[in-house]
Amino acid sequence: MSAEITIDTLRLTAEEGADLLARKQLSAAELHGAYLAAVAERDPELHCYLRTVAEAEGDGVPIALKDIISTRGIETTAGSRILEGYVPVFDATVAARCKAAGMPIIGKTNTDEFAMGSSTENSAYGPTKNPWDPTRVPGGSGGGTAAAVSAGLAPWGLGSDTGGSIKQPSSLCGNVGLRPTYGTVSRYGVIAFASSLDQIGPVARNVRDCALLYSIIAGRDARDSTTVELREPVRLPEDEDLTGVRIGVPKEMNEAEGIEPGVAEAVRRAIELAAELGADVGECSLPRSIAYGLPCYYLIAPAEASSNLARYDGVRYGPRVEADGFYEMVERTRDAGFGDEPKRRIMLGTYALSAGYFDAYYGQAQKVRTVIAREHAAAFERYDVLVSPTSPTVAFELGAKATDPLAMYLSDLLTIPSCMAGLPGLNVPCGLSAGLPVGLQLIGPQFSENTLFRTGYALERALAFDPVPARLR
Ligand code: GLN
Repeated sequence: MSAEITIDTLRLTAEEGADLLARKQLSAAELHGAYLAAVAERDPELHCYLRTVAEAEGDGVPIALKDIISTRGIETTAGSRILEGYVPVFDATVAARCKAAGMPIIGKTNTDEFAMGSSTENSAYGPTKNPWDPTRVPGGSGGGTAAAVSAGLAPWGLGSDTGGSIKQPSSLCGNVGLRPTYGTVSRYGVIAFASSLDQIGPVARNVRDCALLYSIIAGRDARDSTTVELREPVRLPEDEDLTGVRIGVPKEMNEAEGIEPGVAEAVRRAIELAAELGADVGECSLPRSIAYGLPCYYLIAPAEASSNLARYDGVRYGPRVEADGFYEMVERTRDAGFGDEPKRRIMLGTYALSAGYFDAYYGQAQKVRTVIAREHAAAFERYDVLVSPTSPTVAFELGAKATDPLAMYLSDLLTIPSCMAGLPGLNVPCGLSAGLPVGLQLIGPQFSENTLFRTGYALERALAFDPVPARLR
């Protein structure tokens, strides 16, 4: 490394890192090494990583991958004991695309078990702490990636979002995170939770990095039949005004019970700023999406999870608890291998799918899902982007909701409806409440990522939020 370059991993953006590499001011191995050094310094406190990768393979900006993404030769556990010791023999397509772009892997990040949770406290390997205040949660399920990016332990990373697991931790950690349009990013090799909802997406320190990473992972993959090609190339945003952008403020999502006053206030200021930047701002309404989104999700997601998790049986993957006979072995392995939250969802989902109940629960939830999609489509006849808080609260204390699943589920009240409708959503930090980040959620119609990036970028510039946690500056 040339003497005059010191790498401040807390401040360096991926774009700046790429620029330093292109100008040969440092090597990819040196950049990777700088992140590993930061991990050695700060991760014992924060526990963002389940494991790190010592070798820098590639000549690009390094990346952190949520441990739900299969990586060849690197243990991949989905935060569960039932996959302890499982070393995939192949890369997920998103991992392969990152590698093809030259990106060395820094490590695999912590997650709620099978991405089920909103605080990363459901990880079988212990919780991750929020870099802004280590007595608080980083959100979940992708708390590991979000906290790593916020604490300067990765310039960017990938998460997975079923009902909010990219957007909500990005909100609680002060990052930019995108849940892409359903079908634009391959899930091949991604450990499945609820297949009609799961999406992989980028987490970064700013909107341009987020867009850049999205452009690397998105697009049709012959190995995932649910994927499509993007309709237009990803544009890195550069406009600082919002002239011509029509922004809708769904009343129910901005006035919902449980939104903390400090969160409502920061979001209200961001909306005013959008109007000052030239956006056309108006009010709209999504009454049924907000009333039914969460209950509908907690039928569909567990139902699909119960099916996806049936494969962990002590035969195909991971550890086995020996017993007399096959069925007893499977029963004991699953009892020992799964934590409480996956068990809760397997039971709920199996019930909802069982003969005689299917139509009343899963079938009915699918119909409600159509209602939610139509309600959003109607709003997009008048608006390009819908805005709300991402999370009703800032980061909460570790343990505050761990024993109350329903309180935990409410963390995703505002992120879930658009996920049910297959729509993209971007979290952009919009200020602090009591010293903790508040996230603004931008929702668009399918394939509107470029509009979300443009809107997010203009707001990011105007808001000038400092993404480095105050205690680490
Ligand atoms: N918190 C939600 C859940 O537990 C969403 C999780 C996710 O998006 N993976 O299901």
